[in-house]
Amino acid sequence: MGIGAPTGPDRLAPDLIAPCGMDCGVCIAHLRDRNPCVGCNGEDSSKPHHCTVCRMKHCDELTSHGHSFCFECPRFPCPQLRNLDKRYRSKYRMSMLENLEEVRRIGLEQFVESERIRWACDHCGALVSVHRKVCLACGESAESSRGAGLTGVSS
Ligand SMILES: [Zn+2]
Repeated sequence: MGIGAPTGPDRLAPDLIAPCGMDCGVCIAHLRDRNPCVGCNGEDSSKPHHCTVCRMKHCDELTSHGHSFCFECPRFPCPQLRNLDKRYRSKYRMSMLENLEEVRRIGLEQFVESERIRWACDHCGALVSVHRKVCLACGESAESSRGAGLTGVSS
């Protein structure tokens, strides 16, 4: 699997929150052992292909106006963001739009604090990945904490 040693939720950090609301800290590409991705806000060399060509990361509105997050954009939420949000809601029980609303409501630092609680394994306390149904450290189900507070998800 190439998954590294268990690490705790304290590794989550503000600079791992992407403009679209993705928390790169819980992405499997960031948590993997070999050539771990530095996240959306880092250099491209380690990123999965679909992230290097991401239309939101490279969107003119974001880059030319120096926006940190998509909610600062007059086009928010644009179709690209809504599509990504829909895919993550249905497939991974996480919502970019809800994440962004939280960042706007409570601030980035507090959002990261809430993420550290949300993505801690109920069984061993290790950081769980949004892209995996089981904890990378102990193998127990990582479903219960995921999607906490998530509304509007059709089962
Ligand atoms: Zn665990």
